[in-house]
Amino acid sequence: MSETARAAVLEGFNQPLAVRTFPLALHVEPGAARVRVTMAGVCGTDVHLWRGELPLSLPVILGHETTGILEELGSGLNPGLNKDWRGEPLEVGDRITWASSIACGECFYCRLKSQPTRCLSRKAYGISYNATEAPHLRGGFAEQILLRPGTAIFRLPADLPDQALLGAGCALTTAIHGMERAPLAWRDIVVVQGVGPVGLAAIAVCRDAGASRIIAIGGPRHRLQLAREFGADVVIDVAEFPLPEERRQIVLKESGGFGADQVIECVGKPEAVNEGLELGRDGAQFLVLGQYGNAGNISFNPHTVTRKQLRVVGSWGFEPRHLNRAIEMLQAGWKDRFAAAVTHRFSLDNVNEAMEHTRAWRGGKTVIVP
Ligand SMILES: [Zn+2]
Ligand SMILES: [Zn+2]
Repeated sequence: MSETARAAVLEGFNQPLAVRTFPLALHVEPGAARVRVTMAGVCGTDVHLWRGELPLSLPVILGHETTGILEELGSGLNPGLNKDWRGEPLEVGDRITWASSIACGECFYCRLKSQPTRCLSRKAYGISYNATEAPHLRGGFAEQILLRPGTAIFRLPADLPDQALLGAGCALTTAIHGMERAPLAWRDIVVVQGVGPVGLAAIAVCRDAGASRIIAIGGPRHRLQLAREFGADVVIDVAEFPLPEERRQIVLKESGGFGADQVIECVGKPEAVNEGLELGRDGAQFLVLGQYGNAGNISFNPHTVTRKQLRVVGSWGFEPRHLNRAIEMLQAGWKDRFAAAVTHRFSLDNVNEAMEHTRAWRGGKTVIVP
């Protein structure tokens, strides 16, 4: 085996990623793992990171949605007795994925408030690790990745292809966490703003959760077609209806005259929040899920929240148990649709084309096959 591995590194905001070679730690510490990356998803978050919209210590090897083959488990562990996060046996050669973040389990949010996604020392592969610091290989856009002790590893079922998992990506786990924080009631009418990966995943989760009617707002047309395939009953094309008031009238008509029971924002543009506040009925729940990057301020009228008795909920990232749920959901009938959402594959050397594809919103999900 080669003693080096290549990886795509973000060295400067808004500049092309550079493919660099890193030394490979051939002996991993107890509890850690070395994984040969088989597929890595390019996520909208990678574009936000590339633009410098989130705090980041450069250089960083990007890639936080990853599948791979387990090649080495840290010494000191008894072969055959290793287990994945669910307690299933884990062996060298297994196909795996893992939760991108590790929470400390010790801090105010982890221990006292049961909110590990807000852990004070949470670190995510492909985001929070400076590539100049050994062991360097902490991102998915790479031939190899080194996983720290404490990583929630999941052995992938044989009937679940990499492509299905990455077609779902962190969008599905994000939507599952959001649904937990702002649960749907059975037969609720839902508006999903945005038909990017998070929007499609939210539609799928709402369908699974018993929504009676799902109204999706977004574009372009091929994404709205996907929204239908993922379970939207009504789609509203923002190109056809460019004014928020036009769209609100359609939502009112399609929701029996009062607006939706739940609105889920999956757009990422701040102005979508103002529109979303007006799409629910009085007493509706509004889940703001898409504002992962800091895209700036808007002015809004808080009177709307009081008058309409809205419940506004935020949700950040996900926990290992949400990834567990995502794997179950994919196995239970969603894997083909999510696998079909992957439309473009690029090699590591063409990583910048992959980033450009995601930034320009071409086709469906883009993946890198190192
Ligand atoms: Zn992501
Ligand atoms: Zn913590």
